[in-house]
Amino acid sequence: MKIKRLAHIGIAVKDVDEVAKVYTEYLPLGLDSRDTVGELLTGFIPVGDTSIELVMSTTEDGVMSKYIAKKGEGVHHIAFEVEDVAAAMAELKAKGVPLTSDEPRPGAHGAKVAFLHPKATHGVLIELCEYPEKH
Ligand code: ZN
Repeated sequence: MKIKRLAHIGIAVKDVDEVAKVYTEYLPLGLDSRDTVGELLTGFIPVGDTSIELVMSTTEDGVMSKYIAKKGEGVHHIAFEVEDVAAAMAELKAKGVPLTSDEPRPGAHGAKVAFLHPKATHGVLIELCEYPEKH
């Protein structure tokens, strides 16, 4: 598996636009793009070669709504860009590393993503993503 870069840091938020102000008003960054994936709305804030990914649920019982109800807003996951997410998953499975899905799942901006299970990573949810183009 080749890791190309730290693609983004995912932050669980209640409201993408509200939280984006922290980065665009307190800090000199800009909200570059938004995307929806199922019930999730994401906002990307580029920082050099990586990004901050703000993620909110658009439904009360969505995955981020549930996460925030339990743990509050804040850092949710870190994402590494890989060349081939399916191959990376196979490599991890061969090592016995638990993943949260058997197949790559659709992510923001046409990415294919997979998550290592946080029980195997000392509490950090690690995403692997393969982008059709740089993001
Ligand atoms: Zn992510």
